[in-house]
Amino acid sequence: MPRKPSAYRLQPLTGYGPVRGGPARTSVRHEPFLRMTGRGRSMVLSFDDGPDPRYTPDILKVLKAHDVRAMFFVCGEMAADNKDLLRRMSDEGHVVGNHTWSHPLLTKLSRSAIRSQMERTSDVVERTYGERPGWFRAPYGAWNRAAFQIGAELGMEPLAWTVDTLDWTTPGARTIERRVVKGAGPGVVVLGHDAGGDRSQSVRALREYLPRLLDSGYHVTVPRRQFT
Ligand SMILES: [Zn+2]
Repeated sequence: MPRKPSAYRLQPLTGYGPVRGGPARTSVRHEPFLRMTGRGRSMVLSFDDGPDPRYTPDILKVLKAHDVRAMFFVCGEMAADNKDLLRRMSDEGHVVGNHTWSHPLLTKLSRSAIRSQMERTSDVVERTYGERPGWFRAPYGAWNRAAFQIGAELGMEPLAWTVDTLDWTTPGARTIERRVVKGAGPGVVVLGHDAGGDRSQSVRALREYLPRLLDSGYHVTVPRRQFT
């Protein structure tokens, strides 16, 4: 059985009682959170679309070397194929969010298809990581009302990002690093990717920007409560 990262248990903002033993239902939002508040010089690093055995282990290694926790918005089909990496995220205290099963454009799907995409992913995360996700992120940042409603029913808060590294365009590790360092600020949430293509630049960039953020006095962490 995977260990539960109880110290990193997410706290939904508003509860309406448990849903199928998962996180409490959250209030329905009309837009995603874009950043954290009230955390001083704290920042969140998030990695989407994985896990991918070619890149995720290197990212985990860098995070561990600096004793830093991050968020991984996983796709259910990737999680199902890489259960060991989900267990490792649990053991190492990272937060796993829901990024749908197969990364579709949710705005083109029926309500029932959106529900299936999100529910199956929460199920596989629960089985491998040890608890259901408390956060979700729409593929391509394409949210709609049904996604917010269904996410809330499944006990998840919607989280977007503040700084987009655009690492998926493979602009070079130095450019990715520069975007993170330039965009750094209290409460900032950084978007990167650990899957979906060649992500070696994303790994190389992390090795450079993470120590720079820490040297600048940033506390790189995962959310527990308040986003705006
Ligand atoms: Zn994505």
